[in-house]
Amino acid sequence: MDSQNLLESLLSELDIALFQCESPDDELPNFQLLNEPPSWTSVFQDIARNQPLALTEVFPYLEAFLPEARESWTSTNNSRANSGVWTEVDDEGNNQQLEALALRISGAPILVLLNLTRNFDERHHLYQRAREIALANEKLIVQLNHRQRELQNSLEKRLQDNQALRDIENSVRNNASAVLICKPDGGVEIMNQALIDIYRVKAPEDTNESLLDKWLKEAEKIYPEIHRIVASGSYWEGEFESHNESGESRWIRLAIGPVLDTSHKLTHYVCIANDISMLKKSSAEIEKLADYDFTTHLPNRRHFWKQLTRCLDKGAQKSTSLALIYVDLDHFKRVNDSLGHHAGDFLLSTIGTRLARCIKRGDFIAHLGGDEFAIILELPYPNINIENIAQRVQSAVSKSITIENSTLKMTASIGIALYPRDGRDATSLMRHADLAMFHAKKMGRGKYQTFTPNMNYEFLQMLQLEIDLQKAIEQQQFNLVYQPQVCSGQDHHLRLEALIRWQHPEKGSISPGRFIPIAEENGMILDIGLWVLEHACKQAINLLNEGFNVIMAVNVSAKQVRQENFKDLVKTVLTKTSLPPQHLELEITETTVMEEMDVVVALLKDLRKLGVSISLDDFGSGFSSLTYLKNLPVDYLKLDRAFIHELPANEESKAITTSVINLAHELKIKVIAEGVENQDQVNFLTEKKCDYMQGFLFYYPMEIEKIRDIFTAIRGAANH
Ligand code: C2E
Ligand code: MG
Ligand code: MG
Repeated sequence: MDSQNLLESLLSELDIALFQCESPDDELPNFQLLNEPPSWTSVFQDIARNQPLALTEVFPYLEAFLPEARESWTSTNNSRANSGVWTEVDDEGNNQQLEALALRISGAPILVLLNLTRNFDERHHLYQRAREIALANEKLIVQLNHRQRELQNSLEKRLQDNQALRDIENSVRNNASAVLICKPDGGVEIMNQALIDIYRVKAPEDTNESLLDKWLKEAEKIYPEIHRIVASGSYWEGEFESHNESGESRWIRLAIGPVLDTSHKLTHYVCIANDISMLKKSSAEIEKLADYDFTTHLPNRRHFWKQLTRCLDKGAQKSTSLALIYVDLDHFKRVNDSLGHHAGDFLLSTIGTRLARCIKRGDFIAHLGGDEFAIILELPYPNINIENIAQRVQSAVSKSITIENSTLKMTASIGIALYPRDGRDATSLMRHADLAMFHAKKMGRGKYQTFTPNMNYEFLQMLQLEIDLQKAIEQQQFNLVYQPQVCSGQDHHLRLEALIRWQHPEKGSISPGRFIPIAEENGMILDIGLWVLEHACKQAINLLNEGFNVIMAVNVSAKQVRQENFKDLVKTVLTKTSLPPQHLELEITETTVMEEMDVVVALLKDLRKLGVSISLDDFGSGFSSLTYLKNLPVDYLKLDRAFIHELPANEESKAITTSVINLAHELKIKVIAEGVENQDQVNFLTEKKCDYMQGFLFYYPMEIEKIRDIFTAIRGAANH
């Protein structure tokens, strides 16, 4: 075999394709393949030897790589550029891992395309093997978790039932798991023998630092978010290395469950710990093999920490900036609970793959565990637009996923922290990204948020607000205001929307935009929502009895709709207040409907059977799609203020408004424009035959007495 042939075979065997760039200065240059096409190329396109080819059309990813490639083709110091590995899906739907190198050989601009799929497959086998061992371990861990959680639940229940501490202590005395029950300030109430054995603590008095604090500190090294989770009264579990009083180190698996009383006040922490050092030892071998997570095949938390530290060191040396993006899926637990863990795993791995495709070479993505992912981006210049990336991540997550015949649409809450601005070490950067994520979640999920220094403060404020909210119902700090809707044509009804206000004893009036998301998050919305419904219905029947033919619209949040007995609640309130159902309208947001379309559609049908009308609130603010409108049993559609606000200047808003109105009318749905503030908007909406308008131009939300005056005036005018 001559050396030329030998070389050809070698390239082919190594799955390498060599290209020469014909016109490096063109925006999208042509390339010529120099060797025999390796077999893998055929699954993309027949790439022939020595023929001009627009390579960026076959592999669009390369377009972003071209500027860098060009640099190495023109540089004189033999520099080469590397695209990093990216994934292509071939015609048969298989993933192919490719990498490109650009370099200059004898003055010629060369692009080398490597197919690394085989390599990846080999690694995959390795994972498989490691996975088998890990599965055995995992099984043990799962059993352990299960036991841990059952114990946790039973202890929580006993505490909530106010059982005597002595009885509880007796029940856990000989439990194999270490149990610590303490007051919110860490003061020990119960501690069992297993705990004493693991920690070699003699008696509670002997420890000068509370054990809970010590655990928090130890866990914080790999779970910087732990303080936030525990402080906000959420359940936490995880594994970390812990040192006992005699300095011995062990791996423990710890669960911390806060116990709340009926008014949501924190009364105890129940902590359960198990020594998992043995399990850890056997899995250490596996972990060495793969720093990767088994479900998603992405780097795991451990790998992530190493990488983050490495990037920060590098950043410090070269004075470059980094962004840490913390991604937390919303309502992932629901998927796990309703479709099972297999479905949950599938979802995580699908989303992991999608996320990996949103980032460029040199960037890093990891699956931190549970429903959390993290991305590290190197920023070539500090004021790069991270929001674009956050949006890309959002849309990658929110593309629908089909699992076992159900189609899901997930969202994620995203927190962003920048290095060096928001933190110089891994822990603080991570804590700040987490805090930002938490804020995003509190704003109502599906949002992203960049860290700001006052977040620590805001976080405390938010916790305080949450605590104050508990008292607000008891102490009747809520009231309702009402905003009339104006009819463009003839309507003998007087339409009102009830809007809640919170009169905080110290902070004054707090807008629903601020507290409703918190109430939705912690479940208080159920009580608040019921109060609103009852109160609004009472006012409606009063007005009706005074001879005003009113229709009262009440906002209903997703959590309320998802209550099992929501229809019955509405029925009860109607009976109790004697309001005829035709005079009640329920406003449900588009996102509520989208989340569980089938269930919600069935419920809306039932509600309409009662005689209540339904309007679809904030239409256009979510992933609105006109196509699903025809399946929705709604009477009214409220066009979101965002569109109306841009009328009539913005062409796109004009087009959307027009087509929504037309389509809605075809489907016999009436349209209400929200947030109408000026006459130009009125003119446009009138021309397009929008049925109702609501906004500051006509009326601000008002107290019921003012509404009565207005209605009386309208009646007076009509009688003239
Ligand atoms: P929404 O249901 O879309 O209510 C309309 C919001 O737009 C109200 O804000 C209203 O005051 C405001 N608005 C009305 N006309 C104009 C205008 O011309 N310009 C501008 N800039 N704004 C206008 P509000 O009262 O702050 O309520 C905000 C959101 O809070 C509501 O949006 C609704 O989603 C929620 N909300 C209010 N009350 C309740 C309630 O009782 N239960 C539930 N679940 N949510 C509520
Ligand atoms: Mg509304
Ligand atoms: Mg609205």
